[in-house]
Amino acid sequence: MNKNDCFKLKITDMGVDGEGIGKYDGMTFFVKDALIGDEILARALKLKKNYGYARVEEILTPSPYRVEPKCPIHRQCGGCQIQALSYEKQLEFKGEKVRNNLLRIGGFSEEELDQVMEPTVGMDEPYRYRNKAQFPVGKDKEGNLITGFYASRTHSIIPVTDCLLGVSENEEILLAVKNYMQKNHIEPYDEKTGKGLIRHVLIRFGFTTKEIMVCLIINGTKLQNQKDLIDALTKIDGMTSISFNVNTRNTNVILGDRTECIWGQSYITDYIHLREGKDFTTTDTAIAYRISPQSFYQVNPEQTEKLYSLALEYAGLTGQESVWDLYCGIGTISLFLAQKAKQVYGVEIVPQAIEDARNNASINGITNAEFFVGKAEEVLPEFYESHKGKDDTMSRPDVIVVDPPRKGCDRLCLDTILKMQPVRVVYVSCDSATLARDLRILCDGGYELKKVRPVDQFAHTGHVESVVLLSQQKADDYLEVEIDLDELDATSAETKATYEEIKKYVAEHNDGMKVSNLYIAQVKKKCGIELGQNFNLPKSENAKQPQCPKEKEDAIVEALKAFQMI
Ligand code: SAH
Repeated sequence: MNKNDCFKLKITDMGVDGEGIGKYDGMTFFVKDALIGDEILARALKLKKNYGYARVEEILTPSPYRVEPKCPIHRQCGGCQIQALSYEKQLEFKGEKVRNNLLRIGGFSEEELDQVMEPTVGMDEPYRYRNKAQFPVGKDKEGNLITGFYASRTHSIIPVTDCLLGVSENEEILLAVKNYMQKNHIEPYDEKTGKGLIRHVLIRFGFTTKEIMVCLIINGTKLQNQKDLIDALTKIDGMTSISFNVNTRNTNVILGDRTECIWGQSYITDYIHLREGKDFTTTDTAIAYRISPQSFYQVNPEQTEKLYSLALEYAGLTGQESVWDLYCGIGTISLFLAQKAKQVYGVEIVPQAIEDARNNASINGITNAEFFVGKAEEVLPEFYESHKGKDDTMSRPDVIVVDPPRKGCDRLCLDTILKMQPVRVVYVSCDSATLARDLRILCDGGYELKKVRPVDQFAHTGHVESVVLLSQQKADDYLEVEIDLDELDATSAETKATYEEIKKYVAEHNDGMKVSNLYIAQVKKKCGIELGQNFNLPKSENAKQPQCPKEKEDAIVEALKAFQMI
């Protein structure tokens, strides 16, 4: 096989970003825009030792899951990787993605996942769902002013005035901005030269209030004839906030530090309703949020209501509980929780967001939520150390909710959660790989996976959000511990080889196979080797823990034999 060779390829799987995967001549190929079930003529683009990248030359037999994409430019634009896949199949793919990460990275077993995984929560109508859009402004080859989106993995702008994921109001707003620029001879920003003024147009839309915010991100400190812009934009129904944000740096980060409101309020308001039951029926219970241009706010309001309602349901509150909400942003989940709990503590790294959170509590008349600025991995241990034994509300909460960014929770944060021993942990995640990693740590530390529910916040893209419930294993079937296994091994008469030595032996003799401490302990127990007093194995037979697969058990037994432990 050489670069540029064409070959027939059956797409049998899908990668994490929705790319098609097929096998040919012992090699695995990744193909953008090919869907599971397609038979294609592929052209090899890049070849590595046993895998490669190819592109679709021709679709020979289309996949049964293929649908006509609504957007004519979905292939060029970087936004929607899987728009050509039927929505039901998209939801299935996202569920599989979460499941596979929990299996491979989290080490949970198929049986365990069968019991806890629930189907992905989808949308009724998966278009026009985004309440926020950021359009870069530039010029096309002929020098015409354009707004649009970056083509995938590039910085060249594909002209778009009406993205089908965004609200239809965007089109009129972009037109008004372009007219203003043309009339006043204002140039778009050019990344190469660093010249030009307008970089991006940020638009936010309150789905429940119909309030609109427009913020122009500019490479300068003022807008000429800004009255022209205001006149044009205020003709649009719902216009509530017009501002500019100063970003004069040569950077890919969209927003700069300073925002100046030039008309109306500096924020828009939106409501998030509580939803109930299996069908997520909207209730009258709602919380109002003020959103400023810089605040983090979930982009899909319909699904956010479902996500937060699930998080609240999983928290299982009766009104008596104390709850920590870590990575709380502008207090969105915290205020939902506060309505049903005795006391909520929120932690967030961005000071402006905490200011918004406090304001949001106040406009909703919520007095039982307190917010702290700082890193979760610093604030939580500090409070735990200073309040343990004195104030259980803070140091021994009933529930801890976490909603970290993609990199997941810091180890120190997880370790503190384990020390605080809440009855339940609710984990909201936007990256199922780091979720799986963190869940393993929590489960090894004494928690049991109860529910996993993916929620489709980003239809047509490869991303998936999940909400997970963990509960503490009961004291009578779990002995809780903090021990260094190697220390235990070195001093106890139970072993001859340390866990690390066993792992090394297994890997070396089984093609790099990885085994966890838990599996080693399970096999040791099976072989009649007594474990250290506190080792965290469930006492009752039916307590749920991942069980060591046969293949790994055999490998560990081999190692134990080699070290003459059995
Ligand atoms: N729960 C909120 C925000 C979730 S996004 C909501 O649903 O709207 C994740 C948040 O974590 C962001 O607001 C980000 O600023 C914050 N964050 C990132 N790293 C953090 C850290 N180490 N400690 C606390 N907050 C952090």
